[in-house]
Amino acid sequence: MKVLVIGGGGREHAIVWSLARSPRVTEIVCAPGNAGIAQVLLQNGSNSARCVPVDTGDLAAMLHVVQTEQPELTVVGPELPLSLGLIDALQRLGHRAFGPTQAAARLETSKSFAKEFMRQHDIPTAAYAVCTTLDEVRQELHRFDAPIVVKADGLAAGKGVVICPSHAEAEQAAAQMFSGALLGSAETYVVLEEFLVGEELSFFALCDGKHAVALAAAQDHKRVGEGDTGPNTGGMGAYTGDGLLSAPMEQWLLKNVAQRVVDEMALEGTPFHGILFCGMMMVPQQDGTIMPMVLEFNTRFGDPETQAILLRLQTDIVDLFDAAIDGSANKLTLQMRPGASVCIIAASQGYPGKYPSGIPITGLDSVSDPDTVVFHSGTAARDGRTVTAGGRVLGVTAVSNPSSSNSTTALQDALNKAYGALSGIAFDGMHFRHDIGWRALRDGL
Ligand code: AMP
Repeated sequence: MKVLVIGGGGREHAIVWSLARSPRVTEIVCAPGNAGIAQVLLQNGSNSARCVPVDTGDLAAMLHVVQTEQPELTVVGPELPLSLGLIDALQRLGHRAFGPTQAAARLETSKSFAKEFMRQHDIPTAAYAVCTTLDEVRQELHRFDAPIVVKADGLAAGKGVVICPSHAEAEQAAAQMFSGALLGSAETYVVLEEFLVGEELSFFALCDGKHAVALAAAQDHKRVGEGDTGPNTGGMGAYTGDGLLSAPMEQWLLKNVAQRVVDEMALEGTPFHGILFCGMMMVPQQDGTIMPMVLEFNTRFGDPETQAILLRLQTDIVDLFDAAIDGSANKLTLQMRPGASVCIIAASQGYPGKYPSGIPITGLDSVSDPDTVVFHSGTAARDGRTVTAGGRVLGVTAVSNPSSSNSTTALQDALNKAYGALSGIAFDGMHFRHDIGWRALRDGL
């Protein structure tokens, strides 16, 4: 089977790596891909993945790649092509494609849509107000105690959420969203939200239009600095582990969040096929119980959680894609390697601010442990060398030994492997967090 993957970051490298392990896959094309993806060898050992250039913001260009390559399956990694309606266009042309339609992807592409949807269908989420003018913001603000969360409606690459210590700052953030000063384009809707306190957790469900199946839970580290401090990034690391989510809590999230989304989207005539990424806040209640509340939905695999999750996936990933497309996810047997896994991002100097590109990377061949994979997030090949080509450059990912005695030692084991591998890799200005998983190590998984 020939498979085309759209995207060119660490998530797509992990998807291509997983596809290459499938006995069903004979050819992989990735658009635009990156230097690491171009080196992925397929199972038969003779073929490597092929990268073709494309702008993932250009719908016509992506369709041209699909028409030229004629894959039997197209997998869409990032949110931008989903928001442009790539899946809808591919379906119209008779191509088999994995991911939600433009209407279903509104759960991610419009925060106001997602909030109204959750309110209508009793999905637990923070109290909120959707505003279209600054006057409305001023009227609604008195309903919220500080700090107040102000969110831009549309896709904002992680920059659309501002936590404001006072009402005046919330008004200012909203004004900057409406004017376009904050994100470069003017927002029509701004969402004000109650500030929730608790532990964050990402819950991933595979959805097929009718069924939601639990895939994995993960935690990521969004802040650039040690101890979760400093500016937000696309993600500096993530981990997964058997102890992260209890079986009853997983069932609760499936029933009250993921399956409810799938049921209600189907009833609204916009069935959801693909990965539903539920960004949760686990809010402690006065009676000692935990109330999980949805912070946001993403409608695709997360980056860098995917790198950590797919390293543990034992089921053929093509079976996952087929099940989601064909409506048979309830018949899928999902197998994950027991234990824990981590992904640690090595970033360019200056990231998440301005950063240089084209810096040679050394030591990529020094990793020989089969449980450790260096996924490329932003790299390019130049004159036979691999150079940096992004803010996030590499995602060094490792899975624990099968013999680890409990969840916390499994996490430590995976961390040791990943940090060990990172110590042999270098590029000028490289920085990474040294404390991935610190909360789980402190409190236990
Ligand atoms: P989002 O893109 O909506 O997930 O928001 C990005 C980050 O902002 C989340 O991962 C949280 O750390 C924080 N955040 C978003 N909404 C809230 C909220 N209602 N209360 C507290 N923190 C929030």
